[in-house]
Amino acid sequence: MPELFIGGAWRSALDERSREIRCPADGSLVAVVDEAGGKDTVKAIAAARRAFDEGPWPTTPAADRGDLLLRVADLLVRDKDALARAESLDTGKRLVESEYDMDDIANCFRYFGRAAAAEAGRVVDTGQANVDSRVVYEPVGVCALITPWNYPLLQTAWKVAPALAAGNTFVLKPSELTPHTAIHLMRLLQEAGLPPGVANLVLGAGPEAGAPLADHPDVDLLSFTGGLQTGRRLMAAAAGTVKKVALELGGKNPNIVFADADFDTAVDMALTAVFLHSGQVCSAGARLLVEDSLHDRFVDEVVRRAKEIRLGGPFDERARTGPLISAAHRSKVEEYVAKGLAEGAVLRCGGERPRGDAYDKGFYYLPTVLDECTSTMSVVQDESFGPVLTVERFSTEDEVVRLANDTVYGLAGAVWTTDEAKAQRVAARLRIGTVWINDYHPYVPQAEWGGFKQSGFGRELGPSGLAEYREAKHIWRNTDPSPQGWFA
Ligand code: NAD
Repeated sequence: MPELFIGGAWRSALDERSREIRCPADGSLVAVVDEAGGKDTVKAIAAARRAFDEGPWPTTPAADRGDLLLRVADLLVRDKDALARAESLDTGKRLVESEYDMDDIANCFRYFGRAAAAEAGRVVDTGQANVDSRVVYEPVGVCALITPWNYPLLQTAWKVAPALAAGNTFVLKPSELTPHTAIHLMRLLQEAGLPPGVANLVLGAGPEAGAPLADHPDVDLLSFTGGLQTGRRLMAAAAGTVKKVALELGGKNPNIVFADADFDTAVDMALTAVFLHSGQVCSAGARLLVEDSLHDRFVDEVVRRAKEIRLGGPFDERARTGPLISAAHRSKVEEYVAKGLAEGAVLRCGGERPRGDAYDKGFYYLPTVLDECTSTMSVVQDESFGPVLTVERFSTEDEVVRLANDTVYGLAGAVWTTDEAKAQRVAARLRIGTVWINDYHPYVPQAEWGGFKQSGFGRELGPSGLAEYREAKHIWRNTDPSPQGWFA
């Protein structure tokens, strides 16, 4: 069955090209899928344009749009097992993690389903008796949604659900490495009753299938999640048509541990912060900043426990984390570690591939701790997107705030201390979009997610996540018009 979804129909790529999808855990063939080129994407943009300009979706009552999203949430729950399995085969991540993701995805659709009709706009008090002044929200138009491979359907849901809630049409281009849950989502949208042309899917490589989404004049909004370099390129490409742009880019996230933190919890969560999904998490706590007086004991314990982390494929129930997404990505992580060691970091554990038949065909890399790092090292500044923890020391509150803010990124991070006032002071000074105090990684669809600085701009989730996909229009009605006589 063809896998591109354009104008409400399933189609093959015009050039009849295809791509093999292989599971990163063992290199096994998952499926061969259609590979779109630019021509397919231009067709998908035309379908989305038509569906927007001719309706009925943009003018469907917001409550009805919300109901459709709630139906999609139910269908996601119904198909959870199949979706989680597909996500794990594409990404190599543990099945249980994919199952958590599916719950979060259904919740995201529920949140935006309920939010769709919650706010219709507002009446403005102009102080003039003969004027009705209202601000109403309208959809932006055709949205281009480009997503990465680490949380394929989750990142997609953060864009698709608010885009639909607001009445837009869209073209989705997921990562070429992880297409299957996006294909499944299109079927669910169709089953839930979304009109043809509102949702369109193109699969394929960024520079070919993705490029028209940034510079095509019929696209009104580009929402991109991915790497910093790609984000810069897309922002430049989008400038020619002055489309709205939202970028969710990378992070190099500080995990700050003061000496008065709860030791066992902070150690435990330092591991979760960085090694979850083998570090392939935009908000991974890959920079551990430990107060000097605690450093040795804390790092010894982190290293002891990191060495015990068992790697394995999606269906290995004893595994705690999985492979990297591709051979190319693992090579990048290896180069990054080699650079760190050349810069003077001290290897405390990992720094190599695991040995054994079980790992030979997958793209595994051992949890790695690099100690005695400084913020000037590139290993501290650059995102590895792998299971690599860098450790720096600090001795004062001012110093740790300066260090934590000393990268181009500003996505997320955490503060560990039992001193509530200190936690609040530090949280207020961190230039990042999400701060966890005595926790790491949780998020809810009701709260905004996004970056400061070069982690991007715009927000996903929460009320701002819906606002991204809306235009505010001011409608001024003079109820008692009469000549002004300005040019009399
Ligand atoms: P990437 O930038 O390589 O690719 C992301 C998407 O962009 C893919 O769909 C890709 O095909 C597409 N793309 C690439 N070049 C393109 C082009 N020229 N035109 C149009 N589309 C193009 O990123 P990745 O390797 O898939 O994902 C990892 C990155 O994503 C990391 O940097 C990570 O931090 C970031 N990320 C950020 C968040 C967040 O919320 N801030 C969430 C997840 C991932």
